Amino acid sequence: MRGKLVVGNWKMNGALGRNAELLGALRSGWQGGDGRAIAVCVPFPYLAQAQDALAGSTVAWGAQNVSEHASGAFTGEVSAGMLVDFGARYVIVGHSERRHGFGESDAQVAAKALAALAGGLTPIVCVGETLAEREAGRTQEVVARQLAVVLDGAAADAGRLVVAYEPVWAIGTGRTASPAQAQEVHAALRAQLARNAAEGVPLLYGGSVKADNAAALFGQPDIDGGLIGGASLAAAEFLAIAGA
Ligand code: PGA
Repeated sequence: MRGKLVVGNWKMNGALGRNAELLGALRSGWQGGDGRAIAVCVPFPYLAQAQDALAGSTVAWGAQNVSEHASGAFTGEVSAGMLVDFGARYVIVGHSERRHGFGESDAQVAAKALAALAGGLTPIVCVGETLAEREAGRTQEVVARQLAVVLDGAAADAGRLVVAYEPVWAIGTGRTASPAQAQEVHAALRAQLARNAAEGVPLLYGGSVKADNAAALFGQPDIDGGLIGGASLAAAEFLAIAGA
């Protein structure tokens, strides 16, 4: 059976005091077990805080971006090795806010995923179509292209990825894909993974997941968990989603 994974994407939110409360509540409130896991992806400056607060717990932590380079003259960048130094297990790559807000190309996203794999991290590779692409009937083509570049690069390591389907129109909008809409895309992604000997890769859904819609989404056969933005900033809501 594929493992279940729910990951919080804090985005550019947090402060030492608030984080301490949130991390403490996750640490004490998460039971885990049954192949279920949770993680939080925090802003870079708070990695050390996450490491301190979560060490020895069953809650994993990670970052939201990584350089495709290992070291050197790349001002402002952070390498996979640095993330590993702070105990990170995961890193989000190719979030739509980076693809669309910071101009990250498919090739750059793939390079970041490969750098993460090489550094010993698990990349959470985000794919998803814009509203215009969905309305033009191009959803499957867009997500297949975004995933293919990463799978081609990862080759034999493709089985170490996590993939998150996040329709851009559902992120932070309160407008979630219906369970059937999400499952349709997940089934296609699953088939694509299977053709690359990576059928067991956890496939997460993201985009306005809340405690009251999580169970219906996670009940779909090809949805193995979620990537949670806004609702990951409140411990009770996030734990309720993870328990769904
Ligand atoms: P949201 O964000 O849950 O706030 O819609 C999800 C994400 O961007 O990962």
